[in-house]
Amino acid sequence: MTVYPITPKAELLNQARTNDEENWALCSGCTECCEYISLEIDRPTTLKDVDNIIWYLIHQNVWVWVDEEDKWYVQFNTRCKKLDESGRCGWYAHRPKLCQDYKQAECPRYNSGPAEKFLFKDEEQFMNWLALARSSKLRSLQQRYLVQRARRWQRKSKKPNERKDANGRRTTTEKN
Ligand code: SF4
Ligand code: SF4
Repeated sequence: MTVYPITPKAELLNQARTNDEENWALCSGCTECCEYISLEIDRPTTLKDVDNIIWYLIHQNVWVWVDEEDKWYVQFNTRCKKLDESGRCGWYAHRPKLCQDYKQAECPRYNSGPAEKFLFKDEEQFMNWLALARSSKLRSLQQRYLVQRARRWQRKSKKPNERKDANGRRTTTEKN
């Protein structure tokens, strides 16, 4: 779950939530934090990291984001199966500890502004961000990744019967 920066107003909510009824009342009409899961991932420092992030982002309903502490997360936008039709937790007594510990003080409804510093909803947004990143290492990662991808494409699109001779010249072998 996304932890939002705590505002003074939200901090009061931490104190206000003392029992289940109050908890439900505070969440009335909202299901946002039960509609996704997010997991921490490696910050991109290698071509493989970039490739992995692109792999996440080419899937439907998958985002990647970065928090204020520069931690990276992959987010799967997928509704919890325990949410009932009225939008309440249908598994309240058994809900995982993660759900129990999550406070309205940290949630989007009671906080202004996004929790994430950067949010990527597709691979194009991510690659554009890398290309314009302040860090020269990240910019170079994007360049190297594009070069690697172009080379891979060239290799794949080469005719299967094309070979190089001992001097590195391309030759084409006849098929029988
Ligand atoms: S904790 Fe916040 S985001 Fe989650 S359901 Fe309650 S009000 Fe909505
Ligand atoms: S178990 Fe309940 S509180 Fe936890 S994500 Fe599912 S519906 Fe929300």
